[in-house]
Amino acid sequence: MSRTSIVAGNWKMNLDRGAAEALTKAVAAGRDQAGDVDVVLCPPSIYIGTVGTALSATSGGSPSGVGLGAQNMSEQASGAYTGEISAGMLVDMCCGYVILGHSERRTLMGETDELVAAKVKAALTAGLTPIVCVGEQLAEREADRTHEVVSTQVRGSLAGLSADELAKVVVAYEPVWAIGTGKVATPEQAQDVHALIRSLLTEMASPEVADGIRIQYGGSVKAGNAADLAAQPDIDGALVGGASLEAEGFLAIAAAFR
Ligand code: PEP
Repeated sequence: MSRTSIVAGNWKMNLDRGAAEALTKAVAAGRDQAGDVDVVLCPPSIYIGTVGTALSATSGGSPSGVGLGAQNMSEQASGAYTGEISAGMLVDMCCGYVILGHSERRTLMGETDELVAAKVKAALTAGLTPIVCVGEQLAEREADRTHEVVSTQVRGSLAGLSADELAKVVVAYEPVWAIGTGKVATPEQAQDVHALIRSLLTEMASPEVADGIRIQYGGSVKAGNAADLAAQPDIDGALVGGASLEAEGFLAIAAAFR
């Protein structure tokens, strides 16, 4: 099956309102160079409205051809959860995607596979596409535990989903040692884990469903290394942190996945 690649920018806690608007407009203006690749921007929550307006996003889509996503959400639908944002609120603000289980949330905020799974379920119920992040720490890779750790995270973070629900998920493999460090996994290292993830998805759903699921690589992706990653058979796009804060480089990464 040919999968439509997806390249998403995770802006993390960066930029201010003016810079967010300017970057959004620059990405939208150059978006065509990425062809039929799905291009998504994930700004800080407080700027989702600003970015959505700059994209002319509606709940039916984005005429700019650039999708809108959040970096996190609550597993709860509504109620007394001070500071939290629900999946329904993200849909209301024209988001189509949400990053879940990013390693920074797992390590800094103590998010567990169980919590991530609850968030994934809530996102799918609301009609969002979850981008579910998994990846090993450096010590785990050095101890030759990468497959064990990633398998546990994939099974745990996607627990309780039907095959139909799994079919709607995007998985992002992000080795923690490669995030924001400038140390990118080699295309062979990344492909090895992507193939593992696809085999797990085959067991959890079916070969047909697994074949259709997009698996992004994330971790120091730049314009200069994107093409080699894109050439791997199971790498279907990128989740981009630092390099997504500048339109030209981000669009060059997206174009590499055409
Ligand atoms: C990320 O945080 O998802 C990420 C991949 O960051 P960077 O591209 O900066 O390594």
